[in-house]
Parts: sequence; structure tokens; C-alpha cells
Amino acid sequence: MPNFPYAYIDLNALQHNLNKVKHFAPNSKIFAVIKADAYGHGAIETAKALVAADAFAVARVDEAIELRNAGIDKTLILLEGIRSAEELVLASKYKLSPVFHNEHQLQLCAQTVLEQSLTNCWLMIETGMHRLGIKPELAADYLAKLNTSDNISSEVGLMSHFANSDSLADPRNAQQLEQLAKVSDLTSLLSMANSGAIIEIADSHYDWVRPGIMLYGSSPFADKSAADLDLKPVMKLVAKITAIQSVTKGDQVGYGGDYIAEQTMTVATVSVGYGDGYHRALATNGYVDINGQLAKVVGRVSMDMICVDVSEVDVNINDEVVLWGSEHLSIDQVAAWAGTISYELLCHVTGRVTRVYG
Ligand SMILES: *Cc1c(COP(=O)(O)O)cnc(C)c1O
Repeated sequence: MPNFPYAYIDLNALQHNLNKVKHFAPNSKIFAVIKADAYGHGAIETAKALVAADAFAVARVDEAIELRNAGIDKTLILLEGIRSAEELVLASKYKLSPVFHNEHQLQLCAQTVLEQSLTNCWLMIETGMHRLGIKPELAADYLAKLNTSDNISSEVGLMSHFANSDSLADPRNAQQLEQLAKVSDLTSLLSMANSGAIIEIADSHYDWVRPGIMLYGSSPFADKSAADLDLKPVMKLVAKITAIQSVTKGDQVGYGGDYIAEQTMTVATVSVGYGDGYHRALATNGYVDINGQLAKVVGRVSMDMICVDVSEVDVNINDEVVLWGSEHLSIDQVAAWAGTISYELLCHVTGRVTRVYG
């Protein structure tokens, strides 16, 4: 039995969600995005489970090296590329595939002698997000430099990234695609779509798609649930009831006495807190799932504990409490209550929460 709380990671659900990517983008290859420890799910275990992915993408060199050391031998894309000559040498040594997105990286590539050339590299094009990438007008010149470099031995693809793919109606999606279309003749490898675009913008699929959040069973859209999209939750965060008490009108619950009972009620203490990644904003508007019934969080979130109102719920000490990822309580719902997005909740599940794979 793991220490509570634990995060149950459903590897069948992960595979199901990868199949949904194939269903939406049947003609594209798939970079499964497993940066930030696979959005909190554990990058190594996630990569091992996603055997049907064509390649993986991470943000940083150390994330990729960890995967290589664990025996993952597929193409590993570095979405933020390399920051120094040292990182370029590491990319070569560990057979990593950087995305180039600025002049500095191009210079490093021109100046550094690598023992082993790089393959499956990409050039990031700026199409409207203004975060990473070079302007379409410069693409031909940059591509020529990369494709003729001794350090690069396979065709370099062109990549860009949507700023608003979570909002189908946003005209900026089409504008970004127009920008990418300006350079599409320069290469036979194009990649644009993240989860939202995989589901809703078929024109953006091109040769490689880059799903992240949908693999983990969360919806990229505010107005469509994961269940609507037939995505299955991968992480179920579970804690236990460690105490049950009765409070009467006027009693304060938790730090600061923010919560004052308006009537006699039963309060259960649950073994999860912000030290595990449970968001403090859930104090004002959060619910947990106890045996299929929702119970409201009362009082502030402590480091290791929360209190919930179980006046209307039948509970016993040691009952399991699901914080998110059950049939009744999706992570998207909890994120909305916390005023954030599922990505943040998932990434913030801390190291002391045991991941249990099944
Ligand atoms: C994180 C990331 C993705 C995955 O995005 P989701 O919205 O999680 O699907 C795709 N491409 C790039 C460049 C990213 O940084």
C-alpha cells in the first residue's frame, strides 16, 4: 500500500488517449509530449507505456538525458533547443534532436565540432505567438544553413505553435496557419498541432502532431469536457480520511479561522495539502469525491491536510478520497474551481506523492 496521498496512473487510459490522437490525425506521425515529467505522470513510465508513439518531445536537455539513461531509444525532440555549446555536445552524445529557434543556436551549431551529427532537427517559425521562433522571411536562409551544416545529417523540418488552439473560433488560428503556409514549400516536414488543434483544426495536422494534455485525459477546451471527447483520465489523485469531528455553530475550521460553521456539521480531515500539490485556491470553491459523493472543502488548505464538509456524506476513517480523476470529478472541473488549468495542477503534484502505475 502506498503512503497517502498517491497518484494512480492508468496506463491503459494513456494508451486509449494515444489511440484517440491517431483517430483525429490518422495521417500524421506523433511526438508524444512528455516534458515536465510527462505533465506530472512520470516521464520514464509514460514513455515506456506509449510504445505506439513515433517519437517523444521534452523541453530541456536534462529531461531527455534522463529518458535516454532509462533506455528510451526513440527520437527525442528538445522543444526549447540547446542553450550552449555544452548542451549541443550533450545533444550529439545522447542522440537528441534540438529545435532551433534563434540566431544564437545557429551560431553554436556553426562553431561547434560534434563527433556525431544530429538527426531529426527542427526549425521553429514565429507565426503569431511571439515566444520562440524566427520570422517566415528568414526561414529559407536559416534552413539552408542548417541543412548544409556538417553537424546535421537529416532534413530539418519546420515547426510552429498555436497560441489559441484552445479556442476554435479565434481568427488568429487561421492567421497562424497562413504564416506557416508561406514556408511550407521549403521542407517536406511540417509540424504545428498540439492537442486543441489535433482535435479541432484538421488543416494543421501536417506530417507530425504534438499532443500533450489530451494524452493525459484532459480537455484542451473550456466548453467541451474530456468525456465529450472520449478522453480518459490518466491520473487519479487519492488521499484518505484521517479524522472525523463534529463542529457547532460559530466554530472555526483551519488556519486563520476563515471558515466559521453556520450550523452543527461533520468535518472530515483528509490527508492531502499544498505540500502534495493540492491548490490553495480550492479552499473557497473546491469539492472532493468520497465514495462517489462530492464534499466541499472548508477552511484553508494546509501543507498536509484539508478539511471537508461531510455532514451529508456517509464516511469512515481511512475511506479513500479522490481529489481528481474519478468518474464524478474531472481534473478540468477541479482546475476551473481553482481558477487555473489542468496542466498546472498536474505539473504541481509533488515528489512525495507516490505514483502507482497500473
Ligand atoms: C507543450 C507543447 C505541446 C503540447 O501542448 P498541449 O496543449 O499539451 O497538447 C506541443 N508543442 C509545443 C511546442 C509545446 O511546447
